Amino acid sequence: MKKITQNSSPSLLSEGLKLMRNCPICRHEYEKKSVKILFDKEISRLAHLTCGKCQAMVLTVITVSPFGLSSIGMVTDLSSTDVSKLWGRESFVEDDVLDFYNLVESNSNFLQLLSSKKNNKNLN
Ligand SMILES: [Zn+2]
Repeated sequence: MKKITQNSSPSLLSEGLKLMRNCPICRHEYEKKSVKILFDKEISRLAHLTCGKCQAMVLTVITVSPFGLSSIGMVTDLSSTDVSKLWGRESFVEDDVLDFYNLVESNSNFLQLLSSKKNNKNLN
């Protein structure tokens, strides 16, 4: 097996991006301008692709490991700006969910408050 060095990683990552040539929805070929590299490190790259034909957006992670190149893509409704904003933020943990549950439980008017705020927004 060919040893993967730090020097070979950037070119392998570029090869990995080439694997994502076509939109998974309509098969239209991506144009260079529709590919945005959001995160680029020695062994991994996060890219956002927008189809020029159907506007479907895909987020893809390309990783180089001693076992080779891997690429994971998923269709998303997040723009590249949204991903940049959310990247690196802490995710929800169980305690956050429990805190929210306790908030709802302790305030019997919680749902009423939510609906009244929603109604207030509609008035504006
Ligand atoms: Zn498409």
